[in-house]
Amino acid sequence: MSEQQPALIPRATPPAWLGVMGGGQLGRMLAHAAQAMGYQIMVLEPAADCPAAQVADAHICAAYDDAQGLTQLAEKCLAVTTEFENVPAQSLALLAQTRFVAPAAQAVSIAQDRMLEKAFFLRCAASSQVGPAAHALIESAADVANAPDHLFPGILKTIRLGYDGKGQIRVADRAAALRALNTMQGASCVLEQMLPLAFEISVLAARGADGQAVVYPIAENVHRDGILFTTTVPSPNVSASIAAQAQAATLAIIHQLDYVGVLCIEFFILQDGSLVVNEMAPRPHNSGHYTIDACSTSQFAQQVRAMARLPLGETRQHSPAVMLNLLGDLWFAEGSDAPREPAWEQILTLPGACLHLYGKHDARRGRKMGHITFIAPTLAAAQQQLQQACGVLGIAL
Ligand code: ATP
Ligand code: MG
Repeated sequence: MSEQQPALIPRATPPAWLGVMGGGQLGRMLAHAAQAMGYQIMVLEPAADCPAAQVADAHICAAYDDAQGLTQLAEKCLAVTTEFENVPAQSLALLAQTRFVAPAAQAVSIAQDRMLEKAFFLRCAASSQVGPAAHALIESAADVANAPDHLFPGILKTIRLGYDGKGQIRVADRAAALRALNTMQGASCVLEQMLPLAFEISVLAARGADGQAVVYPIAENVHRDGILFTTTVPSPNVSASIAAQAQAATLAIIHQLDYVGVLCIEFFILQDGSLVVNEMAPRPHNSGHYTIDACSTSQFAQQVRAMARLPLGETRQHSPAVMLNLLGDLWFAEGSDAPREPAWEQILTLPGACLHLYGKHDARRGRKMGHITFIAPTLAAAQQQLQQACGVLGIAL
């Protein structure tokens, strides 16, 4: 945690080198923000041609736990962050012996494990006033047999390495849970009660090494097939009181975690109006991409400020925004495997369309290839642009 960081490490001011563990689109957009401020970016990522390495000033092509690679990163960079939550926490701990690392290994290791994460949310509940879904650890057939009745129907999720709805199976009853567990190849799982969702929101926050924290507006998220489909900000459905409760809960959690950097917390709003905390991401988040085009300080610029130990930026949203994820499916003609390029020239006739593509050469169905943020003077106008774009791209709304 931040107290364990060496006290004498200087603040990182441009043109210092900043290090990033992971080479995906989050690292790419972080590099853009850092370079805009005059920093140099070094990425450690085993994949040769990855979105972040394409734009970084230097790329260490090595495994996340490669001792030589980590040494090289620490020698060059004054501060290091991670864009990928499944980097070994030990690597972050190792880097933290000589460099400022934000977020810290301990926070990342909690977010890597759904059981630790839920236990942490429960410990926070006294200050956050929000708890996680009812759940139980499932590692064996006996655990399925002993799971309380109220967890059915439920969702069986692997404790580690799940993302975009991968590693999750909906289970109607105990027999289905047993079948599902048998397909998880021995992975430890958590069984969560299936909740009656009204809608989903996320709250992005950032905290500096000085303990000051800022929070962004409530983002409302729609998922399709377990993958984020759209984010709308301001949230059309959230009430002022739930919004205040979710922001206060996020701040309580970020402080209790003694966290430094950008953190995103996903919440469920249930049909009875109550709030449940789902999970947290110890990094910038897909639902925060709209901040690049619609806020004073993007989530990536905010991460740079936090890791460099500079003052955090204002989180004010200056334009209503709707973000649409662009999945690899769009690179195939409808109902066939014939490759095509989406009609960007038509998308770019929309007045507030901000197109972001991540430089991935290999389009696959379900793979995040980019996003478009539609900004407009009113949310209705941004939503109308979304509708028009979906018409052009052949996405059913
Ligand atoms: P990501 O990392 O992309 O956010 P993930 O794979 O880690 O997703 P979750 O956020 O746990 O998975 O779940 C994905 C989606 O599944 C949620 O956004 C929600 O729509 C649905 N879901 C998950 N848990 C529950 C639950 N207990 N009750 C009802 N719906 C749920
Ligand atoms: Mg999620």
